[in-house]
Amino acid sequence: MPYAKLQRELDGRAALGLLRKRQVLQGPQSPHIVIGEKPYLAFCSNDYLGLANHPQLIAALQQGAAQHGVGAGAAHLVSGHSVAHHRLEQTLAAFVGKPAALLFSTGYMANLGAVQALAGKGDTVFADKLNHASLNDAMLLSRATVKRYRHNDMAQLAQLLEQAESGRKLVITDAVFSMDGDLAPLPELLALCERHDAWLLADDAHGVGVLGAQGRGSLSYFGIASERIIYMATLGKAAGVFGAFVAAEQVVIDTLVNHAHSYVYTTATPPALASALLESLKLIVQGDALREHLRGLITQLRNGLAGLRWPLMPSDTAIQPLLIGDNHAALTLSEGLRERGIRVAAIRPPTVPQGTARLRITLSAAHSADDVTRLLEALHELAR
Ligand SMILES: *Cc1c(COP(=O)(O)O)cnc(C)c1O
Repeated sequence: MPYAKLQRELDGRAALGLLRKRQVLQGPQSPHIVIGEKPYLAFCSNDYLGLANHPQLIAALQQGAAQHGVGAGAAHLVSGHSVAHHRLEQTLAAFVGKPAALLFSTGYMANLGAVQALAGKGDTVFADKLNHASLNDAMLLSRATVKRYRHNDMAQLAQLLEQAESGRKLVITDAVFSMDGDLAPLPELLALCERHDAWLLADDAHGVGVLGAQGRGSLSYFGIASERIIYMATLGKAAGVFGAFVAAEQVVIDTLVNHAHSYVYTTATPPALASALLESLKLIVQGDALREHLRGLITQLRNGLAGLRWPLMPSDTAIQPLLIGDNHAALTLSEGLRERGIRVAAIRPPTVPQGTARLRITLSAAHSADDVTRLLEALHELAR
């Protein structure tokens, strides 16, 4: 039994209610999914605008494949950088108001590459304790000195910046925290970075497409712009496709092209995805009605769950976590919803801190008010 120890570790996780398993979807992503022949009303995707299965995106993907083929066949720096990628980068840069942008295969890889290219030995990375795992991994990979500050604690960050050694300073943060739904105070973070000559990397995976004028993201939402901000966002959530980008000053982008390993040493994504993303950006810009509908659902959910025995965490975004605390209790509640034909993911440590297991409810513009009412009724029933 060469793997007996691995099995014991998995068994240990299961006993703690921490074993993870996948669900096999029969059809496309949507609020109404089918798992093993059974239909469910789902509140667990990050497809915030309901674009993942949009007919215009499907058509653009097919058209893109007809025009550019399927595989990119090589890395961007070799011969894999197609005109579709190039046009998408220019469109993304303009969309978020930056001089240049660079496409990455995934948000995970964008964060790894950006932090590793911009900080190294002798530099310091300052990170919010509730940052996404990809930012946490990125700072370790960079080999810079790491200073973590309490969630959104600007006083502690100021102190750490004050004490920093010479070398570059890079502050990294989720713009919308992925498991909490609250926002980073980007204007205050920017002011601190200016005072201490630091750079600010903001990961807007959950803000782009949803927040700000025409869905331009968290910078637009706060009305801030600065050369110091290195903006990162993903394209597999609200944008409904796949991939990610970093938008910044040209010199930063050129540095990433030359030094970000997760950009240099990997095959370019299929160019047809870029075709689909160009279409997605059009729908995002025209998507005020979708965003308005989503805001209405958020208000409906928060009003409907006020006073329930489990508190909703403070969030105005599409991520609405219901704080349960205990791992098994969170699983039991998630299971109770499942028996009622509703899927909400139970999020447990180590994804979130010990004792803060939660149901991460995510809303999408593809949900109807009736869908939310069904969830509210089920949760009230389970609370009794
Ligand atoms: C989802 C997510 C990522 C990773 O993006 P992928 O494209 O899924 O790899 C990075 N950062 C945050 C905050 C995320 O929520």
